[in-house]
Formats: sequence, C-alpha cells, structure tokens
Amino acid sequence: MTMPEKYDVVVIGAGPAGYVAAIRCAQLGLKTVCVDEWINHKGDSSLGGTCLNVGCIPSKALLESSHLYHQANAEFKQHGISVSSLDVDVGIMQARKNQVVHDLTQGIQALFKANKVAFIHGRAKITSTDSIEISSRETRKKTGELKARHIIIASGSSPVRLQQAPLKNGYIVDSAGALELTDVPERIGIIGAGAIGLELGSVWSRFGSQVVLLEAMQDFLPTADKKLANLAKRSLKKQSLDIRLSARLVKAEVKNKKVQVVYEDTSNPKAAGEQKETFDKLIIAVGRKPNSDRIFGEELGIERDERCFILVNERCQTSVPHIYAIGDVVRGPMLAHKGSEEGIMVAEHIAGNHAEVNYDLIPSVIYTHPEIAWAGKTEEECKAAGIKINTGSFPFIASGRARAMGETEGLVKIITDAETDRVLGVHIFSAQASELVAQAVLMMEMQATAEDIALTMFAHPTLSEAMHEAALSVHGRAVHIKN
Ligand code: FAD
Ligand code: NAD
Repeated sequence: MTMPEKYDVVVIGAGPAGYVAAIRCAQLGLKTVCVDEWINHKGDSSLGGTCLNVGCIPSKALLESSHLYHQANAEFKQHGISVSSLDVDVGIMQARKNQVVHDLTQGIQALFKANKVAFIHGRAKITSTDSIEISSRETRKKTGELKARHIIIASGSSPVRLQQAPLKNGYIVDSAGALELTDVPERIGIIGAGAIGLELGSVWSRFGSQVVLLEAMQDFLPTADKKLANLAKRSLKKQSLDIRLSARLVKAEVKNKKVQVVYEDTSNPKAAGEQKETFDKLIIAVGRKPNSDRIFGEELGIERDERCFILVNERCQTSVPHIYAIGDVVRGPMLAHKGSEEGIMVAEHIAGNHAEVNYDLIPSVIYTHPEIAWAGKTEEECKAAGIKINTGSFPFIASGRARAMGETEGLVKIITDAETDRVLGVHIFSAQASELVAQAVLMMEMQATAEDIALTMFAHPTLSEAMHEAALSVHGRAVHIKN
C-alpha cells in the first residue's frame, strides 16, 4: 500500500481564494498542494473556480462585447462615425469569452508550476484533522490520500435554487446557463435584481432583449448608499431594464417552449394580486450558498452556522485551529477579492507572519453602465451609528474628461467624519467607477482626510478629478460647481 503524501498545506478549491492562498503558501516555502474538482464544458479540469469559469471573468467579457455593440448602435453617431449595418454573431462573442476564460485558467496552471504548487484534480474530503481523501468526481471512487499540517478550505459557493422555478435546460437557467446563451432572446425574465441580475440583464438588453427583473425586496440595492441606488435605478430603467420591486415569485413553468411566470406584487396586494408574464428564458439569480456540506463529517467538530457558512475567527481559523476556511464558504461578501485577501492572510499566518484583512474596506462594484462602486460606510450606516458626518459630491456633467468621453452621467459622493475630517465612505456612479474606487480604498486605508485629498494634485483631464472636487466640496471649496 502506498503511503499518503505529506504536505505542509493542503488547499481545497482553486477559486480566487484557494489558488491565491496556495501560491502564497508556496512562496513562503511551505510544501503545498491544491485539490480542485472543476470540469469545464469540454470535460477538462479547469482552475479558477466560479470566478474564472462561470463568474467574474466571463460576465465581464460579455459586458464588454455588449457595451461595444451599444456604443456602435447608439453613440458612434455623435462622433460622426456611421455604421451602415450592425449585427451581433453571438457564437463569435461566446467563443471570444471562452478563449478569455481558457487563457486565464491556463495562466493559473502556469503560476502553480512556476511557484511549485502541486495540483490534484479530484474531490477532497477531510477524513481526520490531518488527512484528506481524494476521490474521482465522476466515479466517486477513492483515488488517493494526503496528510497535512494545515488545511485551507476554499470550496466556494453555488447558486441558490428555487423550488418554485426548477432549472429546465435551455429555458430556466442559473447564472452559468445565462452566460452560455446562443442567441438573443426576445424576452428575458430574471428573478433577483442583485449583482448578477443587473449585470446579465444589461448584457442581453443591450442586444435588444426585453428584460424584466422581478425582485422580492422593496428596496433596490439595499446595501448601497440610498442616493446612489436611486440614481442607478433611474438610469437602468431608462436603459429599458424593467425592474419590478416587491415581486414575490409564485411559480415558473415551461409550456409551449416559453416560460410562464406567476408572481405577486407584495407592495400592493389589494390592487395587484397575482401577475403573469411570459418569457423566452428565465434566469434565476437569487444569491449563492456556501459549498460546505461534502467537505468534512460532523465528527471533526468544524462548526457551521444556520446558513451553512463555516464558522471562522478573524484569522479565518475554524473551530479546529489548523484548519482554515476562506472565500465564499465563510461569512462576509461573496467577492473574489475578499477571498483572495483572506487567502494571503491565512498563508502568512501559517508561515508565522502577521497579516490581517480590513473587512471594513472591501470595495463593491456592479458592472452596469455607468458602474456602481463604493467602499466604506454609507450615509445611512453613519446615521444609524450616530456618527456626525459631512458630505461632498461632484457630478460628472461638470468634468471636462467626462464631457470629452460623452460619459457625463453620475457623481462621486464622499462622506467624512464631521469631527476628524477623515473619509468614511466613497460612493461612485460613473463610467470606470470600478477603477476610481481603488483610490477611495487607498484614501481610507491611509486614513486620509478630505483636506488631504483636497491638497493632492490630480492629472487633468481625468475622471479622477471628480474625486478631488468631491473632497473639495466637503468644505464648500469645489471649483467647477456651485457649492
Ligand atoms: P469559488 O470560486 O466558488 O471556487 C471554489 C472551488 O472549489 C471550485 O473550483 C470548486 O470546484 C472547488 N471545490 C469545491 N468543493 C470541492 C471539493 N470537495 N474538492 C475539490 N474541489 C472542490 N465577484 C467579484 O468580486 N467580482 C465580480 O465581478 C463577480 N462577478 C460574478 C459574476 C457571476 C455570474 C458570479 C456567479 C459570481 C461573481 N462574483 C464576482 C463572485 C465570485 O465569483 C466569487 O465570490 C468567488 O469566485 C469566490 O471564490 P472562492 O475561491 O471562495 O470560491
Ligand atoms: P445578490 O445577493 O447580489 O442578489 C440576489 C437578489 O435576489 C437580492 O436582491 C434578493 O433580494 C433577490 N431575491 C432572493 N430571493 C428572491 C426571490 N425568491 N424572488 C425574487 N428575488 C429574490 O446575489 P446574486 O446576484 O445571485 O449574486 C451572487 C453573489 O455573487 C453575490 O454575493 C455577489 O456579491 C456575487 N457577484 C458579484 C458581482 C460583482 O462583484 N460585480 C457580480 C455578480 C455576482
């Protein structure tokens, strides 16, 4: 019988949390193996988890293609550029997206090799506090066993399913299915107006689909600053995204090659009652749940909360201290960069170094157009916490660069502590807000005040100047707007 191979660290999962943790562990001199069971549509093992295979990257590739189409269709004219006929070949667009995904997943393989991270394709299960059994995802048969001084669980999350709307190939799909559409549907229904609903709704509406989003909550984007959420809602509605709030799904079924949806308008039950809609496709985008149920048995004592998230402390240690859990499988926002930073922190901790994650400064971005991005506290959070604040804002209509780009929609809003002048939150609705928000995180990490930003020089003409002007406006000193 072959002896199980011994490692300093076994990482379960090669998504943005796991693969980053594995690389950093190896860089720190720890003998590291990463185990992942992902199989792509060609049946090949593929690294990068949800993010690279069916999440962040493919969705951004389609958002880019659809934005270019929209610009050619609606915006080129203003530049004097005429296009005699415009069409989209969804097959070519999807092939490009698949190539982007393929190249990036291969890139992780190369990074593993360069950093001497061993990789095993298969399903991992922790069988004792230092043993991991590997089995084949397909046959479920045991294929190997590993011994580890430390284990990092980075098994990610999966889409939440709805009993009222079971997936039906080609008609009722989850986010992964919605990234694979082969033509432009006439009418698309989306259950859930969160990050996925808004991004994928934007993709297909730009190509001409009628998109209806049915959202159970009464508030639109409840975790965003209210002012920004309202601006974004108005803008997306103008772009023909039909966002219906307080919409409770009753059932969805496929009949005559169409999806029939019944929902209730809970904001006005008397007047509205049950509503009916018919779609060519229905996308279910109602959140994700942690993958924590097949990784270990109860006897190990690794605790989970009532929603199945693995319980961890601020260092991401589970109730068994040398077993860590990071990324979507633990508390906090389900975001790739949050998981990656936890991966780095855990690797450093295992190597005996100090590291921490600042959970107060995780940037959020929704890649609609304009983009919605923020970091730090919202005005509502500050008020609820009894913090006295000042605010400053600057609209992009007053930015020279935004005008030159034809991107005048939106604004930057900065919230500062009224006593210390420290920046507490930055909220941006604009083109390239995803890039601008990095400045906001840096400001707050460096504990900058509005005065510090006001005294900083920004290149002209740039969208970043709006950050400068918003900081100036906190004290009524903005130059390019009336304070
Ligand atoms: P995952 O990426 O889910 O990876 C987990 C890995 O673990 C998988 O590869 C899986 O095969 C493996 N695994 C699970 N169990 C086992 C086991 N027992 N044995 C072996 N392997 C196992 N986030 C952003 O920050 N920005 C975005 O723009 C963004 N866009 C998104 C768009 C979509 C459509 C979706 C669905 C998600 C998006 N996200 C985005 C969220 C982001 O993808 C996740 O937060 C991120 O992938 C979580 O990383 P993770 O490493 O924790 O888990
Ligand atoms: P989400 O939590 O962002 O949004 C889900 C929405 O569905 C919520 O608004 C919720 O109220 C609604 N909902 C839940 N049940 C419902 C029901 N029965 N009927 C109608 N509406 C219902 O989740 P998501 O959009 O599925 O995305 C999953 C995760 O992936 C999120 O945690 C998100 O952070 C991440 N993600 C991030 C990005 C990004 O960073 N740009 C993009 C896509 C996904």
